[in-house]
Amino acid sequence: MLRDFKDAPEKAKRIFMMLQELFEEQNINPHPLNYYIWYSYYKGDNPKFRQEMDRVLNDPFGYNDRIGKRLYEEYLEDQDNSDNQFDSAFKRLIGLMIQKMNLWSDRLEEHTKELDACATSLSGDPLNAEELKKLTNSVLSTANSMQQSTAEFQKELLESTKEVQDLRQQLIEARAEIMQDELTQVGNRKAFNNAIEELTTEAMQAPQTLCLIMTDIDHFKRFNDTFGHLVGDSVLRYFANVMKKGKQENETICRYGGEEFAILLANSSLEAAKARAEAVRSGIESAQLKRANSEQTLGKITASFGISVYQGPKESVESFIKRADDALYLAKDQGRNQVKTELDIPVKPA
Ligand code: GH3
Ligand code: MG
Ligand code: MG
Repeated sequence: MLRDFKDAPEKAKRIFMMLQELFEEQNINPHPLNYYIWYSYYKGDNPKFRQEMDRVLNDPFGYNDRIGKRLYEEYLEDQDNSDNQFDSAFKRLIGLMIQKMNLWSDRLEEHTKELDACATSLSGDPLNAEELKKLTNSVLSTANSMQQSTAEFQKELLESTKEVQDLRQQLIEARAEIMQDELTQVGNRKAFNNAIEELTTEAMQAPQTLCLIMTDIDHFKRFNDTFGHLVGDSVLRYFANVMKKGKQENETICRYGGEEFAILLANSSLEAAKARAEAVRSGIESAQLKRANSEQTLGKITASFGISVYQGPKESVESFIKRADDALYLAKDQGRNQVKTELDIPVKPA
């Protein structure tokens, strides 16, 4: 799953190399369709398909092209990927490849028929020298063109596989760019929306704690008004870097909007999320900000933090975000530069 959007191209390369190795090791045909099937399995966003693949892999006979084709037709072919330019372009190419393969297998069938005809002549009456010569020539020329067809086919197959690989890489890179905030190089709002949908679904399926930290820079308007927007921009970059520095495997960091950021922590306790927020808070507070190429100090920057824990299927994504926001505004209300969690929010009388 491409949860870490910044590293997506690198990850895609790793997945691809991993599949290449796996195919070699397990003797799986390196056909583009197999890449697509295994990539989809790795991506894991189609639970029924994933379950069926798990079942196939646990079967002593394991995976083969025939099973792959069946799984593709049953679970992946009609998958609605209309909003996913990567998958649909990839699938278009796969379609072209399959057409090409059918064409070649028809040609091979023709050759086989020609050879069959030769074999039939051999099984009849004894041949004279002239007939034998004709037959030998016919077998030789069929074998020749068969060999040529196979070589051309392999060449085309290789070229198409490469085309698919290149396209996939380009699309993954393009998608990573679409999901990234240009200024701070963390995920953007779209990345956040995708990640929170994905992570809440996962947390529902395999009960686990999912935490959300919302953070907002304190009095940032004042900072902008004093030092200008460009200096403000570098502070946003700096703040994002402070968050990235302590980033762990289970985290997704996104710019939620303006000077507000969000960190999603999969499989993390509220205590761990609180410690993480506290580390970012003190990290930014202790920074000595100076204007680039000058000794002019920019004073201190602080930020406030609010944390919520996802409550499972009974809670909507909106309410999960709102509870983190409420905690954040409590932190602002109580003087800023602090971390509050949903447990600090006073319960309203019924
Ligand atoms: P509070 O402590 O209550 O959060 O006060 P604040 O001043 O930070 O909050 P407010 O919402 O009033 O102002 C947010 C400011 O963030 C206003 C806007 O100009 C600034 N801002 C938003 N996006 C950017 C950006 O991309 N670059 C810069 N330099 N400033 C931005
Ligand atoms: Mg602010
Ligand atoms: Mg704000």
